[in-house]
Amino acid sequence: MPEADCIFCKVVSGAIPATVVKRDPHFVAFKDINAQAPTHLLVIPTEHITSLDQARDDAMLGRLLGFTRELARDVGIAERGYRVVVNTKADGGQTVHHLHLHVLGGRFMTWPPG
Ligand code: AMP
Ligand code: ZN
Repeated sequence: MPEADCIFCKVVSGAIPATVVKRDPHFVAFKDINAQAPTHLLVIPTEHITSLDQARDDAMLGRLLGFTRELARDVGIAERGYRVVVNTKADGGQTVHHLHLHVLGGRFMTWPPG
């Protein structure tokens, strides 16, 4: 069930516009509005799941990663490489409480993160 106040549920339904680059019945990938790299996409399940910590379906999480791997190939960042980040809850810096994977590519990523 979509959450009434969740912006990413609204991206899924189309109530909030987004630049969607890939979707299937279970997952949607779209451009982050505040890109931190030449390619910065968000990948979300169409179902509302609050964070990785609340995810209960490990098979779905595996398919989410597989979708993300195919997305990276589709947008041309797979050969040079990319970073996938899942900010989780308060200490993880999560600000939107609908599970999402950041996919960052198109430049070299430094480590450690802030
Ligand atoms: P996080 O801090 O991991 O929860 O990341 C949330 C991300 O969502 C941030 O990188 C935001 O720039 C991005 N964001 C917030 N609202 C939107 C939106 N309407 N469309 C695309 N990206 C968004
Ligand atoms: Zn949601």
